[in-house]
Amino acid sequence: MKTRLFTIPRPEGYEQEVRAAAELLRSGQLVAIPTETVYGLGANALDPEAVRHIYEAKGRPSNNPLIIHVPSAEWLERYCENVPELAYRLARRFWPGPLTMILPAKPVVPKATTGGLDTVAVRCPAHPVALAIIEAAGVPIAAPSANTSGRPSCTSAAHVQEDMNGKIAGIVDGGDSAVGVESTIIDLTGEKPCLLRPGGMPLEALEEVLGSVGVDQAVYRELHEGEQPKAPGMAYRHYAPQAPVTVVTGAPERSAAYIRSRAKADTGVICFDEYAQLFSDLTVERLGSVHDQAAQAHRVFEALRAFDHTQVREILAQCPDPSGLGLAVQNRLKKAAGFHTVEAL
Ligand code: AMP
Ligand code: MG
Repeated sequence: MKTRLFTIPRPEGYEQEVRAAAELLRSGQLVAIPTETVYGLGANALDPEAVRHIYEAKGRPSNNPLIIHVPSAEWLERYCENVPELAYRLARRFWPGPLTMILPAKPVVPKATTGGLDTVAVRCPAHPVALAIIEAAGVPIAAPSANTSGRPSCTSAAHVQEDMNGKIAGIVDGGDSAVGVESTIIDLTGEKPCLLRPGGMPLEALEEVLGSVGVDQAVYRELHEGEQPKAPGMAYRHYAPQAPVTVVTGAPERSAAYIRSRAKADTGVICFDEYAQLFSDLTVERLGSVHDQAAQAHRVFEALRAFDHTQVREILAQCPDPSGLGLAVQNRLKKAAGFHTVEAL
């Protein structure tokens, strides 16, 4: 298959590209779309055949459900049963934005989309091109991260081309993803709201609206044999570059010293900007300033992906503390490492 590339001329005047992408989606094809979190691999969420192609193109296990993307909270009623007032409150405060809500699904949502569950994940993305495409398509768009399953997510159209060229009908290039990590997922189907995946909306922001929020164990640690995370996707190895990753926790000066003492000539390093000069003889990817969590989120997947174009045989990564966006960045790094973590004392 020849993958068409639609480049969005900025900042406006992209009706033609939007119409072409929406047309492909309506006809059951796959189109990668830009969002503020990461690039999504889009398909008509109401068309089980189209959705099955997503799983095929990504090599994604079919029990790992998809997030459906809608243009506004008004669409919640169409696809979700018994929408609680709380969902509207969250939508008013955080949509469009990097927050996904889990709600009971209406039968119109195919089981192929929900991975067989009775619930559905819904989000309204804060990206004008994504919103225009969904509106033009007139259907919710199922869009998991556009990477091959297991690889780091895509934060640019070039990343999507690396993974999906020849496998999908189109890629819409809307520039780099502003946030850089996937959405925060909150489950609203239980007695108490529960965080299933940390992401671009910090837990602290949700707590301002919800009070206390439960946190699924899969956010922090590797699950024991037989333990099931509430978000099926959290069970899988994820985000991994080819070389094995070790996450080094502890205060930044200690983790930097630890990495320096351990590194060999073929070690790749992910570090905060402030420590990059310590590793000038090695292959280094900067994560951003130690004080700039937004920069770290923006960079983390690009940093992980970059090593696949080098000869490094292992990757040692500094790790942000878990406040704010740090919880998501830490989670992505730890998952990339298969939870292989050492604490620098
Ligand atoms: P991705 O599309 O790659 O960002 O992954 C979507 C994540 O949302 C995966 O971890 C899924 O397991 C999770 N997810 C999607 N739908 C549901 C649902 N109905 N209940 C719980 N988790 C879900
Ligand atoms: Mg993903």
